[in-house]
Amino acid sequence: MKAVKPIREIRINPTLPSESVLVATERGLRPRKEQERVPHDSREHVDACPFCRGNEDKTPPTLLALPDEKDWQVRVVRNLYPVLGTDNQQSDYSFGLQQALEGYGHHEVIIDDSRHGIEVHEMPERHLAMVLQTYQRRMDALYSADERIKYVLVFKNFGRAAGASISHTHSQLIAMPVIPENIYNEVEHSRSYYRKHQQCIFCSLIDEALTFETTIYSPESGEVRRKIDIGQYVVERGERFIAIKPFASRYDWEVHILPIAHQSNFLEASVEDMSDLAKVLRRTMARLNKVLGGAQYNYYFHTAPRCEMFADCDPSYHWHLEICPRTSIPSGFELGSGLFVTTISPEDAAARLREANLMSKERTRQDESQDHLEKIIKRMQKIQRSIKASGQPASMLELMELKDLGREYARIIEHIANSQGGSELA
Ligand SMILES: [Zn+2]
Ligand SMILES: [Zn+2]
Ligand SMILES: [Zn+2]
Repeated sequence: MKAVKPIREIRINPTLPSESVLVATERGLRPRKEQERVPHDSREHVDACPFCRGNEDKTPPTLLALPDEKDWQVRVVRNLYPVLGTDNQQSDYSFGLQQALEGYGHHEVIIDDSRHGIEVHEMPERHLAMVLQTYQRRMDALYSADERIKYVLVFKNFGRAAGASISHTHSQLIAMPVIPENIYNEVEHSRSYYRKHQQCIFCSLIDEALTFETTIYSPESGEVRRKIDIGQYVVERGERFIAIKPFASRYDWEVHILPIAHQSNFLEASVEDMSDLAKVLRRTMARLNKVLGGAQYNYYFHTAPRCEMFADCDPSYHWHLEICPRTSIPSGFELGSGLFVTTISPEDAAARLREANLMSKERTRQDESQDHLEKIIKRMQKIQRSIKASGQPASMLELMELKDLGREYARIIEHIANSQGGSELA
C-alpha cells in the first residue's frame, strides 16, 4: 500500500451537516484508548446460554421461529429486560423544566442463529437473508399491530465493547412512539436537500462513489487542476447493494450499506434484495473482521419513519445500514465536543478493507463442521479397533463415549443439513 501523507482536517458529514468529524492521522494524535480484543468464541452450544437451542425455557415465549419452532434457526422473543414496555406506567413526572414521556413501546430480541459462537461473516448467505427477512417481518408486524408506533429501530450489538451483554449472536428491535433524533435529523436534512436539488442526497453519494475517476480542469487554461479518485470509498459491491466508507464518519472503520436503486423504506426491500444484501453484508463483515482481527461492532438500520410529517419523504430519503466497529473508547474531548476523532483517514480505511483478501483460505463454519465430523469418525473408529483388538465386549466407558460421539455426530449433521437447504422464507 502506498504511503499516505498525514491529514488533519475537520470534515462535515454531508448527510448530517450538524455532525462533523476530526480526521487526524498523525500517530502522536491519539486521544483515544484502544478497545481490548476478545477471542473468537467458536462453541456450537453452551448449556447455560439462554439463546442456545434446547434452552428455550430460559427466555420469554417465542414470537416467531424460522423455519419452524422445533428446529428453529432464527428465533424472536420479547426482551426479558425491556427498555420500553406496554405496561402503561403512566408517567406523571412532569414538573417545571422536568418533563417526561411515558416509556411506551416494544422491545424484542432476534436470536440470529441457533449456533452459539457463530459470527455474521461465518453465516451462510441464505441464513443471513433469513435473518434480514425476520427483521422485516417483525418491523411490519409491530407497525401493523400498534398505531402509536412511529419508528422501529433494528440494531445489533456484537462484543462487549459494543455493549452486548450476552455473547450468543443476537439482534434487537425497539418500537417507539417517537422518532429518534438521529433519524429525524437525517430525514429532515435529506428532504431539504431534495427540495433544493430535486435529487436524493444518498443517490448522489452513490453516484459519486461509483464514478471511478474524475478530473477537474481549470476553466481558464483548460489544464488539469486535480484528479480525484472517487471510487476510493467503495468497500464492497453487489448487484443491488453497495458498501461505502463514508467521507466523514465518527468511527475509524464505520461502513454504510445502501441499496443502489433508490428506496426509502427497508420494508419495501424484496426477497431478491435481501439475498444481495446478505451477500454484501457478509463480505463487508468478513473484510472488517480480517482487517481488525475480530470486530466488535454495532449496526443499525435507518429507514423512513411512519409519521404524517414525513409522509412526503419517499423520494428524498434512502434507507441504509450503518456498521460501527468499536475499536476505541470515545474520550472526554469527543463526548464534550461532539467532534469525533478518527485516526485513520476514511480513504485509507476503505483501501485496506478493499485489499483484504477474502479468497485466501477463508474458512467457513461449514469447513469447521466438516473437520469436527472427521475427528468424531476417527475417534469412533479408534474405539472400535481397540474393542476388536482386545477380543472382549465393549466396556461401559467405551459404550458411553460412543454414545456421546454418536449424539454429537447427529447434531452436526443436522446443522449442516439445515444450513444447506430449506432455510428460506416462503
Ligand atoms: Zn448460546
Ligand atoms: Zn436515493
Ligand atoms: Zn443514517
